[in-house]
Amino acid sequence: MSRFLSAETAALEPYTPGEQPQNLRYNKLNTNESPFPPSPRVLEALSREEIGRLNLYSDPACTALCAAIARHYGVEDRQVIAGNGSDEILSFAFRAFCGADRGAAFADITYGFYRVWARYYGLRARIVPLREDFSLRTEDYMGGNETVFLANPNAPTGMAAAPGEIRRLLEADRDRVVVVDEAYMDFGTGSCVPLLAEFDNLLVVRTFSKSRSLAGGRVGYALGGPELIAGLNRVKYSFNPYNVNRLSILAGTAAMEDEAYFRRCVDAVCANRSWTAARLKELGFTVLPSSANFVFVKSDAIPGGELYRRLKERGILVRHFDTPERIADFCRITIGSMEQMKELADTIELLLNGQ
Ligand code: PMP
Repeated sequence: MSRFLSAETAALEPYTPGEQPQNLRYNKLNTNESPFPPSPRVLEALSREEIGRLNLYSDPACTALCAAIARHYGVEDRQVIAGNGSDEILSFAFRAFCGADRGAAFADITYGFYRVWARYYGLRARIVPLREDFSLRTEDYMGGNETVFLANPNAPTGMAAAPGEIRRLLEADRDRVVVVDEAYMDFGTGSCVPLLAEFDNLLVVRTFSKSRSLAGGRVGYALGGPELIAGLNRVKYSFNPYNVNRLSILAGTAAMEDEAYFRRCVDAVCANRSWTAARLKELGFTVLPSSANFVFVKSDAIPGGELYRRLKERGILVRHFDTPERIADFCRITIGSMEQMKELADTIELLLNGQ
């Protein structure tokens, strides 16, 4: 490691993103993107005229985008903050709501970035194991004072928390913040957004990367009480005020306003998910119940790492995690178009038949 690095930077453990091959040779089912292009309204919004305005800074408050988001959820504009992907918003939340006197609590099996941010900000991290069946019990989080970070549906399992679980946690201690990362909630049910009216200690984080086909546009947001949003803005205006660029503000606004297109895409992904789960079960796989745009699967016939490698040799990318050990047998497979999923299932069938 370079002698120029600070000790703090040398001690970081950076996140490893899924592979992003820049040639489009692969059937890419590894980073939970949408198989569908952005809404046609997004393409219209990104006109030559707008590109011609890139000499001007973007709106630091993302006024139009936040208003479109607020309208969609029926909340006030001051209950919304937009960011450069939900990763940025989550990072702001770790900075805003954790510190020397308040650590962060999150599951052993969840979005890997939580651990990275805890370290980045020098926080005490309480790692709370999921139950044997990968379910989340919020009673396991009771007692501590840490800010809680929950992905719901969880990643990489795809499993949703049982109804009422998160409410219990919010009620148990109204002086600690619970951050619910709903990156995948559009593919399931049980959003915490309706609880915002009742709990000022709830922050819901969402993204345009999955259900709104804008992973490359990098747009995420959070919904919460005005106090929590003001806290996130303190961090944002201490870090990067123009955090969402002009084109992404336009793209996000247009995507949020095209409800019909959004619905069609989400419905198609959910239908393809049912087909894929059924097909993989026929092939002898264990498929965890998914409320997300991916499935987490394992086969007794082929270990997770090997399945990942052999699919890659045949042009299909899925995601495999070596740790923790109890998920090493699994692969996470993004739900793509029907054509992509048929190719996946046919290839797995050939592999299982020794071909
Ligand atoms: N939360 C979860 C649970 C995720 O899986 C991801 C995607 N890697 C994100 C947040 C971040 O997504 P983005 O920054 O693209 O909004």
